[in-house]
Amino acid sequence: MLLRMSTLFLRTLREDPADAEVPSHKLLVRAGYVRRVAPGIYSWLPLGKIVLENVARVVREEMDRIGAQEVLFPALLPRDYYEATGRWTEYGDTLFRLKDRKGADYLLGPTHEEMFTDMVKGEYSSYKDYPVTLYQIQTKYRDEARPRAGILRGREFVMKDSYSFDLDDDGLKRSYELHRDAYIRIFDRLGIDYRICFAMSGAMGGSASEEFLAPAETGEDTFVACRNCDYAANAEAVITPVPPAVTTSQPALQVLDTPNTPTIETLVSHVNEQFGLGITAADTLKNLVVKVRTPGSDEVETLIIGVPGDREIDFKRLEAALDPGVPEIFEAEDFVRHPGLVRGYIGPQVLKSLGIRYLVDPRVVTGSAWVTGANEPGKHAAHVVAGRDFEPDGTIEAAEVRAGDACPRCGHPLSIDRGIEIGHIFQLGRKYADAAGLDALGPDGKPIRITMGSYGVGVSRAVAVLAEQQHDELGLRWPREVAPADVHIVGTGKENQIEVATQIAETLEARGLRVLVDDRPGVSPGVKFKDAELLGLPTVLIVGRGLAQGVVELRDRATGTKEEIPLAEAVDRVLAAAQA
Ligand code: ATP
Ligand code: MG
Repeated sequence: MLLRMSTLFLRTLREDPADAEVPSHKLLVRAGYVRRVAPGIYSWLPLGKIVLENVARVVREEMDRIGAQEVLFPALLPRDYYEATGRWTEYGDTLFRLKDRKGADYLLGPTHEEMFTDMVKGEYSSYKDYPVTLYQIQTKYRDEARPRAGILRGREFVMKDSYSFDLDDDGLKRSYELHRDAYIRIFDRLGIDYRICFAMSGAMGGSASEEFLAPAETGEDTFVACRNCDYAANAEAVITPVPPAVTTSQPALQVLDTPNTPTIETLVSHVNEQFGLGITAADTLKNLVVKVRTPGSDEVETLIIGVPGDREIDFKRLEAALDPGVPEIFEAEDFVRHPGLVRGYIGPQVLKSLGIRYLVDPRVVTGSAWVTGANEPGKHAAHVVAGRDFEPDGTIEAAEVRAGDACPRCGHPLSIDRGIEIGHIFQLGRKYADAAGLDALGPDGKPIRITMGSYGVGVSRAVAVLAEQQHDELGLRWPREVAPADVHIVGTGKENQIEVATQIAETLEARGLRVLVDDRPGVSPGVKFKDAELLGLPTVLIVGRGLAQGVVELRDRATGTKEEIPLAEAVDRVLAAAQA
């Protein structure tokens, strides 16, 4: 491949686009890789299209390597498939919906579980047909609430989605591990810096779902990570290390007058001043009442969650812990219906007699003593001991995770970082197979319900993530595997420099390299150098003033090193750099 700048459909910009906030967006637009059409909708220009295809090629090679087979579904889909699984409704405003000329409902596919399930059901019937894994690389449509950062969060974007179909749970685990390995190879080859994060709590089966997150300041996801070991997780999936049970004996429970102590801070200073307890907020037990609704039923349970008073409840963690139950705020009128619950002064001592379920943070271990509500207005109780004065019904991961908390794997302090999701692997189980009635006929003639995994890679997003992670103040810096070409040869000057640059370019192309040559006549060296930095190809060869003395300059865009080399060595040196 030989691209000539004199004819290449490319215009670089000196100014950042007005609507761009993050570096990847600014640079991809300035370097002429993408152009905005509408919010979250972009066109790809020649260089951008090459990078996008390079990412897709790596993904395709690694999917093929694990035996996945490529198919292609339409993006335009009839409503019925998504009606059957309830997602026509569930997707809400995120779904692009449209009608055909007859008034029938259609949608633009946001993801394709339903279609793949249906396709397999149509073709396969016997247990002998399984397992099978199918994938596609295709344009997806989501009317994102906040499209942002150019192609990072688009409303139209390219995704690789694959789906595994297995006869049993062991098969699903195997398919999942194969994908996990493939994703590691994909992101390693692409040169993306990433962490693999548990996306679901251990209660749901360990690694039933993991996200590949690219650390980036501009990322919208936060994740918890250990800098000592490779543990990383979404906040929802973090498991609190359980301290050992307390065996020392505690004083008897004591009820204290605590007027005017509406906050944990006022309570702590009051009991320390008045009663000399010497406690901190972490010694208080804060109790939150919630209503838990079970979807598809009228049942609403009253539930109380106890967490140490120095921590807030993280509602997302609470939701994940109660899933599929949905927590709701316990309102003033709910308190009216539960006179046993004294708002602001709830303590777990009475919950058994009230018949209310009580779940505690894992730090509330047997034998631990707390200052908590005394279930009377204006009163708290001290030395309230777990296992003696109250008996929790279980533990729950609902307290916030903080930087500095202990890593559940190695005990070192955790940090909280920001990242961008680039891939997601998920053991779906039988949800879609149940909806579609996807069975295989077993050896005994009985049907076997198929179990599925779903796996996504943000192909277009990966382009933005690479730009986000690998750039400097001058421009982009593509890893070779995805760069639009291996080498950018710049010819500058009035003599025969452009001619020589073009000859080297042709030689290198003949030797199998992908080459971009700046052969534009009448463009100043300064402009050409700036463009080379902005476009970000890994190797730059400058054929300039030194040519008269038989030297050219070799630059490495990633390291910034520059070296004068003899013209005669130019071809071999560029080839060596490309093969390094
Ligand atoms: P996010 O939380 O970022 O919205 P998601 O959980 O909706 O992602 P999935 O439905 O798992 O993502 O989609 C698979 C992959 O597709 C994601 O890992 C991400 O890389 C990519 N992706 C999702 N939404 C977008 C988007 N709006 N623009 C570009 N890529 C996207
Ligand atoms: Mg999303």
